[in-house]
Amino acid sequence: MITLENVVKSYPNGVGAINGISLHIDRGEFVFIVGDSGSGKSTLIKLLLKELEPTEGTIRVNGVLLNRMKKRNIPKYRRKIGCVFQDFRLLKDRNVYENVAFAQRVIVTPTKEIKKNVPAMLSLVGLAEKYKSFPRQLSGGEQQRVALARALVNSPDILLADEPTGNLDPKTSREIMKLLEEINARGTTVLVVTHDQDIVNTLKKRVIRMQKGIITGDEKESGYIG
Ligand code: ADP
Ligand code: ADP
Repeated sequence: MITLENVVKSYPNGVGAINGISLHIDRGEFVFIVGDSGSGKSTLIKLLLKELEPTEGTIRVNGVLLNRMKKRNIPKYRRKIGCVFQDFRLLKDRNVYENVAFAQRVIVTPTKEIKKNVPAMLSLVGLAEKYKSFPRQLSGGEQQRVALARALVNSPDILLADEPTGNLDPKTSREIMKLLEEINARGTTVLVVTHDQDIVNTLKKRVIRMQKGIITGDEKESGYIG
């Protein structure tokens, strides 16, 4: 599903953010990516979204070589990858329903489909009753649920979560992680960048450890510190 071969990414100012990474993630895996601030985790996510180009090496996602992808095909590619972030990134002037529906409207989904899919996604994340609420009327955990519903409504193959619990209390964090596990159990490949030691230690998933732009650990059913 995701294969990196000898990937290097240096920023124009000469900073080597990724210094030679080879990695394979199978369809349906649940993977944590951990590492200190500055170890290259966000750069890795941006490379997978083709927001950045590798300086060296190749990246393949779903059999597609990203290096060779035409510019005009990038939006379509990104739609098959759901993303959530620490700061939720919801549209503040749209209600919950519209925040999720928006993801479908941009790919010109028939209204009939949207009216079926959006409530289904909101039920999945446990927010069916709050469809008329605006982001400011929701707790952090609820806002992240909306972000998850939006990320999933177009049935992505992969869900990338960059510090999804960074702004949430421990109990809410565990609930969001449980949801990510459910989403994974339904077949979506899930990659989670996190600093949350408790969660990584509890869930016992594959853990990829990064340090200074290289992979220093990659273990199945692991914890935060090996
Ligand atoms: P992490 O997500 O693990 O905190 P990043 O991928 O953000 O790590 O950063 C990796 C390295 O690349 C750091 O040394 C950081 O300062 C540097 N870096 C990140 N973004 C840029 C940029 N746009 N320009 C120059 N250097 C950058
Ligand atoms: P449009 O005609 O602009 O596509 P809709 O008729 O789909 O608008 O929806 C108008 C508003 O009604 C939406 O902003 C949403 O809040 C609400 N809405 C419509 N259908 C549903 C539904 N099935 N579940 C929850 N809210 C809905």
